[in-house]
Amino acid sequence: MRQAKGFTLVEIMIVVAIIGILIAIAVPSFLRAREISRRNACQENQSKIDGAKQQWALETNAGVDSTPAWTDLVGAESYIRKSPKCPSSGSYTIGGVNGDPSCSLSSSTANSTFWHTFPQAS
Ligand SMILES: [Zn+2]
Repeated sequence: MRQAKGFTLVEIMIVVAIIGILIAIAVPSFLRAREISRRNACQENQSKIDGAKQQWALETNAGVDSTPAWTDLVGAESYIRKSPKCPSSGSYTIGGVNGDPSCSLSSSTANSTFWHTFPQAS
């Protein structure tokens, strides 16, 4: 009778197939979690830009139709210390005092779950 030693090719292929199936299940949810995390960080940045803009408007008595420049908001002695960067490489638009800041990725993908839209107060 043949003595079994180590694993047969079929056994190894089954193990590899199972690992492959597990990876196929896990990776999309990792990617989704990463995108949602990036979206949340971007919305947090937009919230900071909005806060800085409102403070700028208060301190300079700027009208609701005026728009601050980045140099008005960002700087060592200013409202935001470091220029905010979108984690997904979008670019920000400050918008007017009466408007909201926006990210260039606010409607970039088919899945609106990942849109970097500024969260509106409800
Ligand atoms: Zn963004």
